Amino acid sequence: QSANNGILKIAIQKSGRLHDDSMKLLKECGIDVSNGVNKLKSEASNFPLEVFFLRDDDIPQYVEDAVADIGIVGENVVYEKKKKVDVVEKLGFGKCRLSIAVQKGDVYNDVSFLEGKRIATSYPVIVKDFLNEKGINAEIHEISGSVEIAPGIGLAQAICDLVSSGSTLFMNGLTEVETILQSQAILIKNTQLSAEQQAILNKLLFRIQAVKKAKNNKYVLLNAPNDQLEQIISLLPGMKSPTVLPLAEKGWSSVHSVISESTFWDIIEKLKAAGAQGILVVPIEKMIV
Ligand code: ATP
Ligand code: MG
Repeated sequence: QSANNGILKIAIQKSGRLHDDSMKLLKECGIDVSNGVNKLKSEASNFPLEVFFLRDDDIPQYVEDAVADIGIVGENVVYEKKKKVDVVEKLGFGKCRLSIAVQKGDVYNDVSFLEGKRIATSYPVIVKDFLNEKGINAEIHEISGSVEIAPGIGLAQAICDLVSSGSTLFMNGLTEVETILQSQAILIKNTQLSAEQQAILNKLLFRIQAVKKAKNNKYVLLNAPNDQLEQIISLLPGMKSPTVLPLAEKGWSSVHSVISESTFWDIIEKLKAAGAQGILVVPIEKMIV
């Protein structure tokens, strides 16, 4: 257990796919962390947070052991390591999937294709669980990197690896046939935080949620003819309800609201059809509801 309870220790990836977005998230939360090359740790100057820079594979273990109190790591790593940690929040970056791929030209109808075959992967635990669940007997060949070359050199008939665009698979003559897991970066915590550490985490979490919400929403300003106001307002949910202000030009109003990224284009089209003009869309930096 930590000697200094007044500070929360967070583990993030030292370098690699999650490093930049993890640092960016802390920055967007208003937390200043210097990131010198080859630095193992760094203390935030304006928040009770100490940052450890580690290999992503090691983060679940360090959080379980309370060497770090919290950590940012891919869900894929958390499920593979099976450490005792609590999942606090999905962070919306580092999105990828863990998929099985076979050689182009193989006839793959369902998972029974894998029966008796050899599968190369860096995720033996997750793949084993998947095969058990499907009742398939296959040999798992664990390799730590460049999994995609295994079929080409005759090491395996199938692979299970992380995919985002699929271009690595394509370049190696492989076809994705099953998705085992959808993954993104998540915040994990030690299961026995002190009340004081939990209070710091709650403060951090409040900021993370405000940043996430802001990213998923846009601020919209538009001009509406007054006789169309009712219809236009009905299209805009807003945080409470839209703000409506009179324009200098008679018979027109300015309407302000917040709309979510997912419904954005759909709503914009309907607003235009309802007579809205001069539509401005502005990013939101923080959103506290
Ligand atoms: P480390 O040196 O820290 O062990 P690594 O090589 O194991 O790094 P990275 O390749 O940097 O790991 O990937 C870190 C995480 O990024 C992955 O565990 C996964 O959650 C996520 N990720 C997102 N997209 C991809 C992708 N296309 N391929 C691999 N990982 C991805
Ligand atoms: Mg790793």
